Amino acid sequence: MIDLHTHSTASDGLLAPADLVRAAREAGLMTLALTDHDSTAGVDEAQRAGAALGLAVIAGVEINTDFPGGGEAHVLGYFLDRAGPDFQTELARRRTEREQRGQAMVRQLQALNIPITWDQVRRKADGAVGRPHVAAALVEVGAVGNVQEAFDRYLERGQPGYVAREPFTPAEAVALIRRGGGVAALAHPAHIKRLEDVLPPLVAAGLVGLETYYGQYDDATVARLLAVGGAFRLIPTGGTDYHGPGIHPTPLGGRDVPANSLARLQAAAGR
Ligand code: AMP
Ligand code: ZN
Ligand code: FE
Ligand code: FE
Repeated sequence: MIDLHTHSTASDGLLAPADLVRAAREAGLMTLALTDHDSTAGVDEAQRAGAALGLAVIAGVEINTDFPGGGEAHVLGYFLDRAGPDFQTELARRRTEREQRGQAMVRQLQALNIPITWDQVRRKADGAVGRPHVAAALVEVGAVGNVQEAFDRYLERGQPGYVAREPFTPAEAVALIRRGGGVAALAHPAHIKRLEDVLPPLVAAGLVGLETYYGQYDDATVARLLAVGGAFRLIPTGGTDYHGPGIHPTPLGGRDVPANSLARLQAAAGR
């Protein structure tokens, strides 16, 4: 039982790292990767909890990027040593950029007469702030009924609260993860247009995995991703993208990930 994509309060998850690990153990998991957005701050706590409970915790990260022509791509990193030259400095830079983007989103929403404040949003985040924290503030002031509506009406690209990220490409994220001593996989790639065309430069940058066994992907999607990834010798990784109860539809550990995927990822990382 393996889950290679989870979030804690170090970014936009609801559970503290140790609580996430306890929940993972109760769900029957043996291996968990903690992949918070732009932060490895939860990893030590998660690994300590894992050691006590007999569950292996892989040091991971998720870096949200955009293709130069538009379109989001999230890049996962695994088996990070977290101490590589300027790795933490660059992650800190990404988090600062998140704060600036969050403040800009709040200003845009205030201009629409929605009474949220930056303090209110910032208080919702223990670690790396993100759109889910803005969404929670929108729910809190009653501007929307739930987080999904906040994204649909205000926070998705094209909606009035949306602010673009500073340019940061998936290839740069792959390179950053390698500088952190880790291996990189492209997260939930089914929505990416012309995937076979965007993969070659990422593989050249060092991408080794493609998140194939993702949460709600159906068998046909998994089969398509196995074919595309196989053509580039990418390791099919997987996980639930668990953010806490009631956020994404897939429960923690609720997606089978083959043991062979983990073994191949580990070998690629030289661990
Ligand atoms: P950010 O990195 O600040 O742009 O926020 C992106 C994060 O928001 C993603 O990683 C998801 O966790 C979450 N997210 C994106 N779209 C939605 C949505 N439609 N509903 C709920 N959460 C979403
Ligand atoms: Zn998230
Ligand atoms: Fe993601
Ligand atoms: Fe995620």
